[in-house]
Amino acid sequence: MTSSDVDPLVTRMRPFGTTIFAEMSSLAVRTGAVNLGQGFPDTDGPPEMLTAAAQALAAGRNQYPPGPGIPELRAALAAHQRRFWGLEYDPDSEVVVTAGATEAVTAAMLALCEPGDEVVCFEPYYDSYAASIALAGAVRRPVTLRPGSDGRYAYDPDELRAAFGARTRLVLLNSPHNPTGKVFTPDELTFVAQLCQEHDAYAITDEVYEHLAFTDAVSGHVPLATLPGMRERTLRISSAGKTFSCTGWKVGWASGPAQLVSAVLRVKQFLTFVNAAPLQPAVAVALALPDDYFTAFRAGLQTRRDQLVGGLTAAGFDVLNPEGTYFVTADITALGGTDGVDFCRALPELAGVVAVPTQVFYDDPAAGRRLIRFAFCKRPDVLTEAVNRLHRLPDFRRSTPPRSEV
Ligand code: PMP
Ligand code: GLN
Repeated sequence: MTSSDVDPLVTRMRPFGTTIFAEMSSLAVRTGAVNLGQGFPDTDGPPEMLTAAAQALAAGRNQYPPGPGIPELRAALAAHQRRFWGLEYDPDSEVVVTAGATEAVTAAMLALCEPGDEVVCFEPYYDSYAASIALAGAVRRPVTLRPGSDGRYAYDPDELRAAFGARTRLVLLNSPHNPTGKVFTPDELTFVAQLCQEHDAYAITDEVYEHLAFTDAVSGHVPLATLPGMRERTLRISSAGKTFSCTGWKVGWASGPAQLVSAVLRVKQFLTFVNAAPLQPAVAVALALPDDYFTAFRAGLQTRRDQLVGGLTAAGFDVLNPEGTYFVTADITALGGTDGVDFCRALPELAGVVAVPTQVFYDDPAAGRRLIRFAFCKRPDVLTEAVNRLHRLPDFRRSTPPRSEV
């Protein structure tokens, strides 16, 4: 056998193909469908931020910034977290700037997990989690979020308790949660915090949707680090992409006790070293925008959530109303669908719309087989067009040949 006959990819990465977001976005381009798959806005972020970026480029801020991030951005990150969440972080030792939240999560896994350590997470999970846990040689222990009769996704406390054990190193928690739109309540977070403390585990929190808990959620967004005993064991991760509608900038950050931040920085310096020099001062400007910006941002997304939820419901989908994020999930059973992957692969041809099957975000795909995700971070006219198209969707059973069950 020659080296060209064998897959050169390391074993631990073989289960991971192309991300579902790339697959579905290219399907949208190929078919001309309205893309409600990948979560990226189709409008620009605040003009003050864009102007600051252009000025920084023109002013020559184009060389390597300091490893942890430029001082003005770290100061802005500390001030922002104090203003919104009452959390105090030392900008010199407790904040690090990363290449998006994605790098922060991966660097945290590589920095904190020995091979064989266990990571408790909730499924459906954001796709990069499984890959970054695998890269670290760690083992994921997913706990399933299931839709309840109240229309909210919830975990079973017994299952969560059972997921913690002697090898638990950390819990990876995303709230507001992609793809379900769930906002973890203070009670749900308190139980997570209790288990972390019982098992002396760290918490890594992915809070990229921290400003997108809608006003009708059971509770607003509560950072896990604000709970008693949690600041000292929590690394909070977020990014500019969602809050400032600049997903392509990939400016993220992690905040926490100095030892955790320093561990992340140790790995980050060998992944990307530094990133996004001229964008860092612009994100500092954005973080300091008045409260009105953040209120209007959330209200705008909430209106578009309502528009898409109403439209999907009228088109026959069984919608699970999201309490936050960019996303809404829906059950396809009433439309004759039994498998979200089949449904999403056929949807562009049948209706000219792209969505994402959420079963790919589960270790137990059966738990999400009939659920699909739509993004509503799009202009109202785009959402209207998508909904109009979905109204013309024929019954799925009659329009596609059955795929053999896998
Ligand atoms: N975490 C979650 C839950 C996300 O939805 C996303 C997608 N934006 C990311 C992380 C990645 O963020 P970034 O683009 O800043 O790497
Ligand atoms: N976070 C975005 C989503 O969930 C996509 C990011 C990506 O394409 N990796 O749709």
